[in-house]
Amino acid sequence: GGRSNPGGFLIEQRRLDKQPADLRVRAFTEITLKPTADSGAAQASRCTDCGVPFCQNACPLQNNIPDWLALSADGDLREAWRVAAATSTMPEICGRICPQDRLCEGACTLQQSGWDGVTIGSVEAWIADTAFDNGWVEPIRPLAERGQSVAIVGSGPAGLAAADRLRSEGYAVTVYDRHDRAGGLLTYGIPGFKLEKRIVQRRVDRLIEGGVQFVLNTNVGVDVTMDELRSRHDAVLLAMGVYQARTLSVPGRGADDTVAALDFLIAQNRVDCGDAADASAPHAAGRDVVVVGGGDTAMDCVRTAIRQGANSVVCLYRRDRENMPGSAREVQNAEEEGVRFEWLAAPKALMSKGEAVTAVRAQRMALTEASASGRRDIAPVAGSDFDLPADLVIEALGFEPEAFAEQLDSGLGLSKWNTLQVARGGFATTLPGVFAAGDAVRGASLVVWAVRDGQDAAAEIDRYLRARTEEAAA
Ligand code: FAD
Ligand code: SF4
Repeated sequence: GGRSNPGGFLIEQRRLDKQPADLRVRAFTEITLKPTADSGAAQASRCTDCGVPFCQNACPLQNNIPDWLALSADGDLREAWRVAAATSTMPEICGRICPQDRLCEGACTLQQSGWDGVTIGSVEAWIADTAFDNGWVEPIRPLAERGQSVAIVGSGPAGLAAADRLRSEGYAVTVYDRHDRAGGLLTYGIPGFKLEKRIVQRRVDRLIEGGVQFVLNTNVGVDVTMDELRSRHDAVLLAMGVYQARTLSVPGRGADDTVAALDFLIAQNRVDCGDAADASAPHAAGRDVVVVGGGDTAMDCVRTAIRQGANSVVCLYRRDRENMPGSAREVQNAEEEGVRFEWLAAPKALMSKGEAVTAVRAQRMALTEASASGRRDIAPVAGSDFDLPADLVIEALGFEPEAFAEQLDSGLGLSKWNTLQVARGGFATTLPGVFAAGDAVRGASLVVWAVRDGQDAAAEIDRYLRARTEEAAA
């Protein structure tokens, strides 16, 4: 009882306290301070149990948010954890890095009716962290071994979520990745100040302890072929993400004049994982940095450059603040940390002296009148050129799929965007026994969608393998 809490909104919303910007730019650790038992419960108790769980519907995992908020408000974190873990294989990760303003929190009835919404993401992370700290996170112990095996290509959130569910069902699971560490973009894309490496490693360790095999440094299509995987395993899940970086096409851009966003981020993430710094890797210390792009990747680059001790950091984005794809919260964090934004500005040329880049020549853009479709376009403003001094130019213009069919198997059907084609409403590719999930199917998306796909693909693979067993027995 006592669920309904009509006065919840009277409790003041408290976002998790952030470290002051001048302190947090000195480290690659998370910037929020952890809630105490009292403050966590107080924030959870702000949920008014409005009866129509818009938050749950807006969560790609359909997390049972009102239930775990009520349980946390009552101090029953252990039960809250049980409920949270039922729908999500990584609540502590989604709670940290989902763009909640566009998902659960944006849909919260309090938020929608002009009050401050419930801080759902930070309560979710707090529940899960408490569960890990108290040893409530159950090891994976399948009831019985099923005697069939599944290969998963790619150890990002889609692959890890599928591995968790398939191993729990008793399948032998082998995860292949071309990197030397598991985690995909959780490890080598997303910086530690949003998601500390130990949080990802904790998940990977749990899978290893549960019997999932990781085969790292193995590029599928080069070191092992798809035919080999298909003969070794009863089913294959492709969860390889999208890694072909878009590049600038402006005059003056030579091969060595720019750095790809992911190369820049990987170098820092390696150091955060404990590797020795690589002197030949791109680094922003003392440099004037211009990052081109306005998505999550661009935000991570500017904030990494600040922490590396850049002399100046400018983000160049051709649309305005309201139309940028990156999270508003991250823009605010970046501004607090000293990043300068040039909105409605697009690169026009790279300027060099000898071998070295010296500036980005940019031009102003203006929003045009809304077209019939209602979307406002942008057009360059004549005579508006200006130069931004730069000796490190980072391209964060988004990612396309790699050539999957060429690399893996010419029998793989592709969509018109060159992502892996799957059967409508499911995960089966055009090759029998081969499934696909995450960014490799959706194009660049979100961690929470990759988790959803991984979990659902695991359920479909389970049905497929059970059906095959029954056929064989018949
Ligand atoms: P990935 O995480 O990309 O993992 C794919 C894995 O497959 C990689 O480990 C790769 O090495 C491996 N692989 C690829 N090809 C092969 C092969 N041939 N053989 C073997 N292994 C292979 N989303 C959010 O929700 N919040 C954020 O804050 C956020 N920030 C981001 C920041 C950056 C810099 C980037 C790039 C993305 C961010 N995203 C964010 C998006 C999110 O990271 C992705 O949507 C998500 O990781 C996709 O998961 P995935 O499992 O499909 O693929
Ligand atoms: Fe919100 Fe993401 Fe958690 Fe769903 S998974 S409740 S969208 S933070």
